[in-house]
Amino acid sequence: MNARRRAQLPPELVFLPLGGTGEIGMNCYCYGSGPADERHWLMVDLGVKFGEETDPGIDVVLPDVGFISAEKSRLHGLVLTHAHEDHLGAVAWLWPQLECPVYCTPFAAQILALKLKEAGLDEQVPVKVMPVGSRFKLGPFELEFVSVTHSIPEPTALLIETPEGRVLHSGDWKIDRTPVLGQGMDEKRLREIGAKGVDVLICDSTNVLREGFSPSEADVAARIAAIVSQATGRVAVTTFASHLDRIATSIRAARACGREVVIAGRAMRNTIEAARACGMLNDSGRLLDEEEFGYLPPDKVMLLCTGSQGEPRAAIARIAEDQHPHVSLEEGDLVIFSSKTIPGNEKEVSRVLNNLAELDIDVITSEDDLVHSSGHPRQGELAMLYDWVKPKALIPMHGEPRHLRAHREFAHGKGIRDVLIPRDGHITRLAPGPLDHIDEAPCGRLHVDGKLIVPSEDGPAKQRRKLSYVGIVFVSLVITAKSELAADIELIADGLPMGLEDDLIEAAEKAFGSTPKPRRKDVNALAESIRTSVRRAADIAWGKKPIVKVSVTQL
Ligand SMILES: [Zn+2]
Ligand SMILES: [Zn+2]
Repeated sequence: MNARRRAQLPPELVFLPLGGTGEIGMNCYCYGSGPADERHWLMVDLGVKFGEETDPGIDVVLPDVGFISAEKSRLHGLVLTHAHEDHLGAVAWLWPQLECPVYCTPFAAQILALKLKEAGLDEQVPVKVMPVGSRFKLGPFELEFVSVTHSIPEPTALLIETPEGRVLHSGDWKIDRTPVLGQGMDEKRLREIGAKGVDVLICDSTNVLREGFSPSEADVAARIAAIVSQATGRVAVTTFASHLDRIATSIRAARACGREVVIAGRAMRNTIEAARACGMLNDSGRLLDEEEFGYLPPDKVMLLCTGSQGEPRAAIARIAEDQHPHVSLEEGDLVIFSSKTIPGNEKEVSRVLNNLAELDIDVITSEDDLVHSSGHPRQGELAMLYDWVKPKALIPMHGEPRHLRAHREFAHGKGIRDVLIPRDGHITRLAPGPLDHIDEAPCGRLHVDGKLIVPSEDGPAKQRRKLSYVGIVFVSLVITAKSELAADIELIADGLPMGLEDDLIEAAEKAFGSTPKPRRKDVNALAESIRTSVRRAADIAWGKKPIVKVSVTQL
């Protein structure tokens, strides 16, 4: 019976995002091939998202991969399109749930190795290094890393071929005809792929709201070189730690006018080390440590550092507060923010900019000059990729809801009629077409809390958020066998205004006194009655209801 039913289910290729749609970050996309009751799975990317201010103590958020974990006997591998945190940052956290081989390019493998080592997993995770341009087969999936351009070494699009259909998963990309480093966009291969027919393009939506084309890294490099050549004091350049093109650009600009380069920030050092291990950064000069900064004449030094997003512990934030142990800047010095402020980080960046202004340090940001270009495609680039690849259908990914929706409208305008906006957890049939939302899978997010992975819904962050708004009161009572108080009620308040304690103790005593003796035997009911009374008293005196915890000890 079962076998007959199985035979009736048609093979299909499906797409299941577990993160990365409706948000920028936490990319995790699954592809399933075969009949619905016997799908073979491939996971593409496994990234993190940074925690929100509203979740105190949560720096990192992960996608919940429980659904695929339960199917891991048919999960053939995890393929990483590039080494950005939002695509690879969750591997060290979640691999133990997946236990599958991981495929990535040499540079991504270097970055991943550092993370796996930190997590003590370096001996366990089978990482298969595949150069850009490689073809490899995982179960029913024939895959190819196609070279694109982006803002980190070795960005790739992934061609996915299965018996049911062909998909191009764009990864993060832009069209840069003159990148500073790397192989560049493989237009020829993309056109060949298009000529053979692409059923669905799964495509980056980050910059779909912007018209035209992104400036090239070469244009940015020329501006940075010109700015540095005119500077008379110290120069600091802050950029994304993983942006090797920009690191190389800054180093060249410094060398061109005889400035030594000092590197600050561990993540940036890691990028440079990984790049050198892959033979990418051919700068023969020495890169100096922070300690050496102070000994160099102002016009003979450039600091290259992290912190472009206003991260409070990063080098530039500490320099702006004049709190850095080795580096200080003063009037006449220049800081270049070779970066864009990622939505959500505006306040932090503005704090750093204001601190630099207090010190009378000149600042150039991407709003003032061409010192940054995004790594994601604007409308002109999207239209060009559509033209090369000629997809029958399109799924927008890597975007907030407004980006995904705008991408759908844009694709419609370019003649791609079959466009579906996915949601995390939606299973979409890609082939045979047309696109169809056919099922749902459980999905969600997890919080990294210290060393532990905890639920995001009703997890510790929720309680901490409440604590941060209203504070907490502990009430402790000791009662005798005859249900009388054995000692005075004790009360400790944390995070409440001073002077409320007497009112709260009085409320606790009244609640105790008004509970008839026989009912005091039920210590839970007694505690609850005291808890509500104390909360009410706080509300009357203060206008807010704190968290109240009551402990009753019966002798
Ligand atoms: Zn990304
Ligand atoms: Zn990226």
